[in-house]
Amino acid sequence: LDRMKQAVSRTRESLEDRIEGVLSLTRTVDESALEDLEMSLIASDIGVTTATEILEALRDRAKRQQIKDGAELKQLLKEQLKAILDEQNRPARTVAKPPEVILMVGVNGTGKTTTSGKLAAYYRAQGRSVLLCAADTFRAAAIEQLEVWSERSGVELIKSRQGGDPSAVLYDALQAATARSRDFLIVDTAGRLHTKNNLMAELDKMRRTTQRLIPDAPHEVLLVMDATTGQNGLQQARLFTESAGVTGIVLTKLDGTAKGGIAIAIARELKLPVRYIGVGEKIDDLLPFDSDAFVDSLLE
Ligand code: GDP
Repeated sequence: LDRMKQAVSRTRESLEDRIEGVLSLTRTVDESALEDLEMSLIASDIGVTTATEILEALRDRAKRQQIKDGAELKQLLKEQLKAILDEQNRPARTVAKPPEVILMVGVNGTGKTTTSGKLAAYYRAQGRSVLLCAADTFRAAAIEQLEVWSERSGVELIKSRQGGDPSAVLYDALQAATARSRDFLIVDTAGRLHTKNNLMAELDKMRRTTQRLIPDAPHEVLLVMDATTGQNGLQQARLFTESAGVTGIVLTKLDGTAKGGIAIAIARELKLPVRYIGVGEKIDDLLPFDSDAFVDSLLE
């Protein structure tokens, strides 16, 4: 909870600055208080649609005089936010037989490679065996970067030279992970968006390659999203969710933004669970997402 609090501190401070008065014990819950609340939720990048919906529900309760004061309003707001997040909180798909295959997808610069490395370290720390696969063969830097993460986390890496076929290196990695009985195979993929159709075709080919070797895989397709891009990131995310079979979100760079409300918008608008959050550049700066801790940290 402490790390979560730290991670969302900028969003919390910005929210507090705006709504301190609204959610205080003494404030009467009238229309102007509700409007202030709506504006501050929108400023946290929760999204207009989502903010409006939340406020409608709160307004309705206020009208029926079921909200005595600001403190009660805060409690109801927290319940609403948790409900939105929990609605998407389904368990990850069960794995018939290891390896559990996790494809990491998303636009370049969102933190995909970093997150692949952190996730490998996260599972290693739990005593699980992991194999990494560098399938972003387009960028030499991505392969080199993943090599560094592989050394840092003590997790083996399967890679090819730059320009190789991503599905070919993935095929090798799937065979290696099976032969070496690894619990997890984490696959870093390319994310150059200016060739959108090629990229989606490539991801599709990788999914089919995976299924050919392991019929129930990939077990997770994690879309990595940069929280600092807020609502703009949602637009990009839709491109992937429409064609890449995304099963969950990793929200990175939460440490550097006041736009943490985007986590709520993701659940509400993309209908996907946030699985992990990135809270810094270091190896242990990845936390499993916990909706209670998140909301309690946002609105203390
Ligand atoms: P990719 O192009 O999507 O693979 O992105 P990278 O993994 O290369 O990350 C881009 C930059 O974001 C790097 O400088 C990372 O250190 C940084 N980064 C990634 N995740 C986080 C995070 O959770 N917090 C912060 N502050 N920086 C991050």
